[in-house]
Amino acid sequence: MNITAEHVIKFVERVAATVKEQRDYLTDLDSAIGDADHGANLDRGFSAVLTKLPTVADKDIGSILKTVGTTLVSTVGGASGPLYGTAYLRAGMVMGDRFEMSADDLVAALEAALEGIIARGKAQRGEKTMVDAIGPGIDALKAARAAGEELLPALRQAVAATEVGMLATTPMLATKGRASYLGDRSIGHQDPGATSAFLMAKAMLAVIEEP
Ligand code: ADP
Ligand code: MG
Repeated sequence: MNITAEHVIKFVERVAATVKEQRDYLTDLDSAIGDADHGANLDRGFSAVLTKLPTVADKDIGSILKTVGTTLVSTVGGASGPLYGTAYLRAGMVMGDRFEMSADDLVAALEAALEGIIARGKAQRGEKTMVDAIGPGIDALKAARAAGEELLPALRQAVAATEVGMLATTPMLATKGRASYLGDRSIGHQDPGATSAFLMAKAMLAVIEEP
């Protein structure tokens, strides 16, 4: 099974709906260790993305993802805007003018996305950021593919690993981003960005699982 441009459009729509629905939850998480705006930031960004989506409705996957990226960078003030924006832009660059992607293309696009986040934010794993959810998710996706799993079961394993990664941010000490200002008081709270990354992973799976 391949992922089509139509899947990508549905994925972006689902992420927009999810961040709207989970806006208060993400903001609550950010109020504990940040400035209580993560839900509002992503909702603003993805609402703007939704207004741009009709312009790329029949375009290739690269154009869709690059539009998401540039819109997030230009509409989200917080750290997450440029970070997710860069991620979608880099994934879009990998996909270029293709209208379909294989499971291995998805791995390549996600790896480029994570490299973009790391290049921009300089966070390594274990610093209590979105990297701690996305990294293990990609590892699991690659491991599942190496074990011969098809796209759907591989994605299920990736989403499960992303959730484990998200939950593992709770005991971590934040050393990047606003949460790092809290020092030891950042310990004991789940990272908002790792949580939004998990929500995006779940949205991807849901779109591929749809009949
Ligand atoms: P801000 O921190 O500017 O208010 P948001 O609240 O929208 O921005 O996003 C906060 C999230 O961004 C954090 O929970 C964390 O996951 C992520 N984040 C912050 N700084 C970095 C970084 N340098 N690298 C990776 N992720 C980061
Ligand atoms: Mg914030």
